[in-house]
Amino acid sequence: MHWFRENFVEHQVFGESEGLRPLRAVKIGRGERRILITACHHANEFLTGLCLWSALEDYAIQLQKGVFSASCAYEETTLLAVPWVNPDGASLLMGLSPSAEEEQFRALGKKYLHIPFPEGYKANLRGVDLNLNYPARWELARLRKGEMGFTTPAPRDFPGFAPLSERETIALTALTESFSPHVAVALHSQGEELYVNHGGHCPKGARELGKALSHATGYPLCRTPEGADFAGFKDWFIHRFRRGGVTVELGLGENPLPLQSFPYLAEKTQNILQTLLQSV
Ligand SMILES: [Zn+2]
Repeated sequence: MHWFRENFVEHQVFGESEGLRPLRAVKIGRGERRILITACHHANEFLTGLCLWSALEDYAIQLQKGVFSASCAYEETTLLAVPWVNPDGASLLMGLSPSAEEEQFRALGKKYLHIPFPEGYKANLRGVDLNLNYPARWELARLRKGEMGFTTPAPRDFPGFAPLSERETIALTALTESFSPHVAVALHSQGEELYVNHGGHCPKGARELGKALSHATGYPLCRTPEGADFAGFKDWFIHRFRRGGVTVELGLGENPLPLQSFPYLAEKTQNILQTLLQSV
């Protein structure tokens, strides 16, 4: 796939969502250390996507100004960022979906009336929770979520009928395979915690990276909860590459977090990015 270049920033469409929106990746840098950062796997966490865009913009501005630390990072690292893993879900929550698509989302809630529309929605347009669709203890996700009643496409918590059943997860795993990052970070909300382990694995260097990110955010480094230690992007990354994969839970409160929290969370995200660019 072709990369388009504008000043310091390259971008690429690496796939298409179920609603035919482009899945975009932004690349900055030409160094050997490869860093992947993703946001907005979940519809009602669209603020994480805005925060990542803002942090990327901040980095690009520093490069344009010739800030020394940014220029060093540009030479030493290659950053790949995917701000919207679930652009259809993000569009729904931001009130941007065309009405037919909105109805398609709404129909997912017919069997799950306790989930508010659209505030409680996390899934993609096919009713699959993308962060439960990766091949890393996926069967356990199906079992646990099935016990909770999520056995069919739903506004949230349905892992799909098979791992990697969705356009978005297929495209992101293919992108990750070709980029082969040294570290991968997934931004979520909320909880103000960091997770670096999966299924008893905590790859070499992951704890140090986790500690550095903990220092940068003020969020504690926690053990991935047993009831959520499956089928997520960072789980798959650790399982597949045995390299540092981190989930960051930005902010506190109920999703979707209020827009007023954006400046605060954007600053946290800038700190996360700076730490990733500077950690060796
Ligand atoms: Zn999430």
